[in-house]
Amino acid sequence: MRATRAFLKTMDEWPLSQAATNFLVGSEFGHVIEGEVVASASGETMALYDPATGLEFARCAAGGVEDVDRAVRSARQAFEDGRWRNLDAQEKERRLRRLSVLLGQSRDLLSDLDVLDGGVVQAYSAFIVQFGIDTVDYYSGWPTKLHGSMPAAPHDVVVQQVREPVGVCAVISPWNGPSAAPCGIVPALACGNSVVLKPAEQTPLTAIVVAKLCLEAGIPPGVVNVVHGVGEIVGAALVAHPQVDAISFTGSGETGRRIQAAAAPTLKRLSMELGGKSPQIVFDDADLDAAAATITGAAWGHSGQVCTAGTRVLIQRGIHDELVAAMVEKSRSIKIGSGFRADTQMGPLISQEQLDRVSRYVGLGRAEGAHVALGGARQGDAGYFHQPTIFTGVDNRMTIAREEIFGPVMSVIPFDTEEEAIAIANDTEYGLAAGVWTRDLSRAHRASQALRVGTVWVNTYQRVNPSIPYGGVKQSGYGRSLGAASIDHYTELKSVWLKIR
Ligand code: ADP
Repeated sequence: MRATRAFLKTMDEWPLSQAATNFLVGSEFGHVIEGEVVASASGETMALYDPATGLEFARCAAGGVEDVDRAVRSARQAFEDGRWRNLDAQEKERRLRRLSVLLGQSRDLLSDLDVLDGGVVQAYSAFIVQFGIDTVDYYSGWPTKLHGSMPAAPHDVVVQQVREPVGVCAVISPWNGPSAAPCGIVPALACGNSVVLKPAEQTPLTAIVVAKLCLEAGIPPGVVNVVHGVGEIVGAALVAHPQVDAISFTGSGETGRRIQAAAAPTLKRLSMELGGKSPQIVFDDADLDAAAATITGAAWGHSGQVCTAGTRVLIQRGIHDELVAAMVEKSRSIKIGSGFRADTQMGPLISQEQLDRVSRYVGLGRAEGAHVALGGARQGDAGYFHQPTIFTGVDNRMTIAREEIFGPVMSVIPFDTEEEAIAIANDTEYGLAAGVWTRDLSRAHRASQALRVGTVWVNTYQRVNPSIPYGGVKQSGYGRSLGAASIDHYTELKSVWLKIR
C-alpha cells in the first residue's frame, strides 16, 4: 500500500518535496483507527490515480462495514471515557494550537499530496492548506469560550442551559479540497466530540497525514479516526451506524439525498453542503476589468470543480460583448498542465468519469444551440484535461444552465433589467452562492436581499474565512459550516432544572 517505485521514477521530472517522497515510500496508506494505521479487515485495497497522467501510483486500504464498525467503536469509547471531552478547555486549546503549528510545518507534504491525488495546481493547494491552518487557529480559541446560559425560569427553580458535545461525528468529504480535512474535523474537536473522517476515495492521502498530526499534537488515539473506501460501502455504513450521532456531508446532491434517506432510521443530525449553479450578475456600471478577472478566475479555479464556481454569468446587454471579449482574452492563454509545474494555472479534472461528464455537457450545450466562444474540447490525450469553455447565447432553460457540470464550463446569459437578472438568477434548483457586480450601492443591497442563496459576494467572489458561516439553501443543502454555526452543529443544548423552593 505504498507508492510504486515505477511511479516515483516518473516523478523524477517534478520537484516533489522530500517530505512527500518520504511519505510516499515510507507510509502505509491505511485507515487510522485508535491511533494506528491499519489495513482493512478484508485486506482489500483500491487504486489511486494521478489525474495528470491517468497512471495508477499506489494502492490504499479500501474499507468495509467491519472497518467502519471498528473506527466508530474506537471513537465511541474515546468519547465515553472522556479522554478528550473531559480534558480542560485550556489544554484542548494548547493541543489544537500545536496541530496548527504541525500543519504549518507539513505544508509541502500536504500540498504535494493534493497535487498528486487531487490534480490541483500549487496556488490552489497552497490556499487550501492555509485555509485548513486558519480554520484550526480559529477553532483552537473556542474550547474556553463555549458556555451555556441561565434562561428566565419559574420562581421555584433554577434552570441551567448547558452546551454539550454531540458524541461521535462522521465527516464525509469530497475530493475537490483534500487538504481542507482539518476544516471538517476541528470544529467537532473544539466542542469535545470524537470524529470518524471518510475522505473521498480519489483523495485519501492527506487525511492520513492530518490524523497522524492530530496524534502528534496530543489529541488522544481514538478521537480522530479515518476510514477509506468507496462511498456506497464505507460512507453508507457510517450513515447507518447506530453509534454515530451526527453527519457532516459535502458532495453531490444525489449522494446527499441518499444519505438523508439512509440517516432516517437512526434520526441522525445532518449538515449538507451540496452543489450549485451559482450566478455572477454583471450590471452595466460594473468595473469590467475586475469582473472579467475575478469571474474567469472563479470559473477555472480547480478546473471548475468547486461548489461555488460561478458558472452562470448573467451580463447586462450593453456591456455583454465587451465583457465576453475580455473574458475570452483572459482565458485563452491559460496554461493547462500538471500541478507540479510551477507555471500551471489549470490542472486536470479528477477522473476519466469527470472528463466524460464534462464532454457530455459540452456536447449538450452545442446541441441545444449555445455558441462556443472559447474552448469546447478535451486538452491533449493523456490525463484528464479539458479546455476552459465559454458558451454564449445561453438560455437559462438549457441543460448547461440548469445542471451542475463541475468542470471548466461557463454559460453566458444576457439580460436587460435588474428584475430580469434576479429572476434568472433565482430560477434554479440550487442556492449556494451568487456574485453581484455593480457600483450602485442601493442595487447591490437590493440584489443581495432578493437572491435566494447562502452567500452573496458583491464586487468580489469566493472569499472564505473561518469565522464566516458557509452553506446553501434549496437543493444546495442546509446547515452551515464555519464560524459559530459549526459550534451549533457540533453541540447539544441540555436544560437542567433544579428545584430551590
Ligand atoms: P462525486 O460524485 O463527485 O464523487 P459524491 O457526493 O458521490 O461526489 O462523494 C462525496 C463523498 O461522499 C465521498 O467521500 C464519497 O465516497 C461519499 N459517498 C458516496 N456515496 C455515498 C453514500 N451512499 N453514502 C455515504 N457517502 C457516500
